[in-house]
Amino acid sequence: MRLSQMLFVTLREDPAEAEIPSHKLLLRAGYIRRIGSGIYAYLPLMWRVLKKVSQIVREEMDATGAQECLLPQLQPADLWRESGRWDTYTQAEGIMFAMTDRQQRELGLGPTHEEVITTIAKDMIRSYRQLPLHLYQIQTKFRDEIRPRFGLMRGREFIMKDGYSFHTNEESLKKTYQDMAQAYSNMLRRSGLQFRAVDADSGAIGGSGSQEFMVLAEAGEDEVLYTEDGQYAANVEKAVSMPADVEPSPFATFEKRETPGTETIDKLCKFLKCSPTHVVKNVLYQAVYDNGITVLVLVSIRGDQDVNQVKLLNELTKLAGNYQAKTVLFLTVPDAEAQRKWAAKSLPLGYMAPDIADDYIAGSKEVNSKFLRLVDRTAVDLTNFVTGSNESGYHVVGANWDKEFPLPATVVGVRTAKKGDRAVHNPEQTLQSARGIEVGHIFQLGTKYSQAMGATYTSEQGEEMPFVMGCYGVGVSRLAQSAVEQSYDKDGIIWPVAIAPYHAIISIPNISDAQQVEVAEKLYAELNQSGIETLLDDRDERAGVKFKDADLIGIPYRIVPGRSLKSGKVEVVERATHKSHEILIDEVNFTLKQWIEAAIN
Ligand code: ATP
Ligand code: MG
Repeated sequence: MRLSQMLFVTLREDPAEAEIPSHKLLLRAGYIRRIGSGIYAYLPLMWRVLKKVSQIVREEMDATGAQECLLPQLQPADLWRESGRWDTYTQAEGIMFAMTDRQQRELGLGPTHEEVITTIAKDMIRSYRQLPLHLYQIQTKFRDEIRPRFGLMRGREFIMKDGYSFHTNEESLKKTYQDMAQAYSNMLRRSGLQFRAVDADSGAIGGSGSQEFMVLAEAGEDEVLYTEDGQYAANVEKAVSMPADVEPSPFATFEKRETPGTETIDKLCKFLKCSPTHVVKNVLYQAVYDNGITVLVLVSIRGDQDVNQVKLLNELTKLAGNYQAKTVLFLTVPDAEAQRKWAAKSLPLGYMAPDIADDYIAGSKEVNSKFLRLVDRTAVDLTNFVTGSNESGYHVVGANWDKEFPLPATVVGVRTAKKGDRAVHNPEQTLQSARGIEVGHIFQLGTKYSQAMGATYTSEQGEEMPFVMGCYGVGVSRLAQSAVEQSYDKDGIIWPVAIAPYHAIISIPNISDAQQVEVAEKLYAELNQSGIETLLDDRDERAGVKFKDADLIGIPYRIVPGRSLKSGKVEVVERATHKSHEILIDEVNFTLKQWIEAAIN
């Protein structure tokens, strides 16, 4: 492609709308253009990158025996009602764009495709003989994200590879899951990314069956905890660790103490001169179940620990049956306004005890009249502890479970693991923390969707059995931008060779120099013909401008037919290192071929 004929517009200044380097650079270098909130046009250079990433993804998927297909983006609401997700997706989470057609039928724009694929399996897979089966697609997804941001990182319209596998049993699912873990590692390695596979939250479905593939970068929205020995890595949402040891309590007898102005653990411990490991703190949450019932949740946890909301949400989902519900729609810390809706009298916030009376709640049809009391494992074994007294300005010390306070019946593990904690697999290892961008997620679904939608096959024994399923996603457009986030310098993007839009760019320093133009044209034709994707900067611009642009758009090799022409050579500059080589014109093709091959494999 000739730059003189391309839609080629670069910006010198950082666009105001962009916060992180990769977003700024993709805008400045003319790869993407914002059309609306979370909506971007992929301009020609970007589209080439996306096609390359897609091709790598496709090759790795095909190598596992998965088959590519293309599913509809317009999805009938009925399918989502069958799986029980319509209300959650369109209203509670509100992530799904929903609409009504001219015949008053409801439809959604696909944020994901479990419903569609399960329906197909239900119709078309009759027998165990047809299993296992794995279908995937590469397609635009729509999600009405609350906070679209960082360009392609969190868009409302983005490209995803999503695959779904069907099995007769867990063992077969695990095999495909392992194959996917390998395929995902291959995709990311081939795309030139530094990444880590981490244990991920799999929601209330449970099981150990979920891993995320994180591209390591400061701008990542996720926190990853890992150990140096390489034995453990998990998303903080899921991570486990050993809490610090409890120090012996200085309080031998139970008494109530005046502790003015100590509504935080910090202030309380300073005031009482004790360790936060002596404190049982009681944290209030508000859960709204899918049948509209609000439940006030009191979590008693050791003072030096924090509640992990994802873990808590999973526990509350498990308890949904107790409230005749299926799932939790919202989980929040109730602010003053939320409290006004249900508090019968004002709560002694900061001074609550595990046994705070239920009469603080004005129960109603929508609000359960009793606190759901949970105790985290870190608080169960504490003795002679400090906790609230249910009276503002006072705490109790030297308290014991089943003496002064009944131990809540439901024991949960909802503490947040954090950097510096000892690892469970080896207490000599401490958890380290890194930021990551989730580019892929593989998930053992089990029978969640097949059961909900009545998708069964006939087993070898002649029984109707629900499919055992897995699902596997890659954010293709997010992955492409992550590569930039990991690889740039002050001059611009440094694409990994495998996904660069072009391998090389020939920058003609002076287009009125006939010899320069002749050599450039010859190389341009020759390189492209031999499969080295090459741009020709034939614009009537100063050399400095062309070099700056070439650096900004991040093409791996820049070829300059300049001063060295008199010795039959051109200059070839490596984008990543700025290293310059003088290469005989006739050897450029061969040399680049070798460099590219070495960089890609
Ligand atoms: P996140 O936690 O980042 O919101 P998710 O867990 O909802 O993502 P999945 O449903 O697992 O995402 O989707 C599979 C992949 O699609 C993700 O791993 C991610 O790479 C990509 N992805 C998800 N949401 C977006 C988005 N809004 N914009 C771009 N890529 C996305
Ligand atoms: Mg995910």
